[in-house]
Amino acid sequence: MSSIGSSMMNQNEELYLARSKFDSYDDLLRNVRAFYYAKGNGISIRDSRKDKYVTLQCALSGVYKEKPEKKRKRCTEKKQKKSTGSRLTNCPFQISGKKGSDGLWVLSPINLTHNHEPTTDMSGHPSSRRLPPEDVQTVKHMTLSGIPPRQRVSCFNTSFYSGFVFLEKEDEENYTWAITAFKNILGQGNHPSVIVTDRELALMNVIENEFPTTSLLCVWHIEKNVVANCKKLFKRSEDYDMFMLSWNNVVYSTTETLFEKNWGEFTLLRSLSTKIGSLLANSLCNH
Ligand SMILES: [Zn+2]
Repeated sequence: MSSIGSSMMNQNEELYLARSKFDSYDDLLRNVRAFYYAKGNGISIRDSRKDKYVTLQCALSGVYKEKPEKKRKRCTEKKQKKSTGSRLTNCPFQISGKKGSDGLWVLSPINLTHNHEPTTDMSGHPSSRRLPPEDVQTVKHMTLSGIPPRQRVSCFNTSFYSGFVFLEKEDEENYTWAITAFKNILGQGNHPSVIVTDRELALMNVIENEFPTTSLLCVWHIEKNVVANCKKLFKRSEDYDMFMLSWNNVVYSTTETLFEKNWGEFTLLRSLSTKIGSLLANSLCNH
C-alpha cells in the first residue's frame, strides 16, 4: 500500500504542475501556496517579474546567515525567537511559473526534491499565515484528489450547445429565467433526458425544479455519494484518502490513456474490498 501511495502522491504533484492554469500571477501564487501547504511545505518567492514569470522555492531554501552584530543587538529577544532563519535547510526545491501568450499562467518543475521531511503541523510555518483558514480543508481535499484548484473538466468534448445566454448574475432568479426560456423553446412535454453541469449549485437547484424528470449528471453529486457511502468502510483515514485520490484521478483523467492507467490503479485498490466496488456501482447508477 505505501509504495502505491507514495507513487500516487508524486504523480499527483506532477499532474498538478502540468495541468494547472491560472488567471493571474496572484491567483497562481495563492493556489500554489495552498497546494504545497496541504503537502506540508511552505513556498516563498525567489524571483519574479509580475507580468512575466515567477520562480518559487521551498520556504526552507537558503542557509541561516548570522546577523551583523549591530543589527542583532537591536533585535528584541522576542524577535529572535520568531526568526525562521535557524530552520533553513538549503532545500533545492524550485518551480517556475510563466505567463503564456494566452494570458494564462502555467507551472513547470525545476527541482521537486526536498531535503527535509514535510511539516505535519503547519500552524507555525511562515507561509501558513498567508493562507485563509477556510481554504485549508478544501485545498487538502483537492490535493488528495489530484484536482488542481483552478481546473475544471470541460464537458464540450462530450456534449453540445443547445443555446447561449448572457446573464447578469449567476443566481437562481437568473437561471430560472434562462431555463424557463429554454423549456419554452423545447415545447411542452419535451425535456432533455440528461443535463451535464459543473458544481453550480444555483443552476442545479433550478434544473431540479424545472426539469424534475431529467437526470442531472454531476461529478459533485457522484462524489458526494461516494464520500457518504465509502468513508465508513475504511478503518484508517490514510486508506480512505488514498482511495479518494485514486477515484478522483479516474474521474478527472484528461485523456483516454490516462483514464486506463488511473482505472487500473483504482481497480487494484478497489479489489481490496468488494463492498466498495458494489457501493460505487450503486453510487454511479443513482446519479
Ligand atoms: Zn523543501
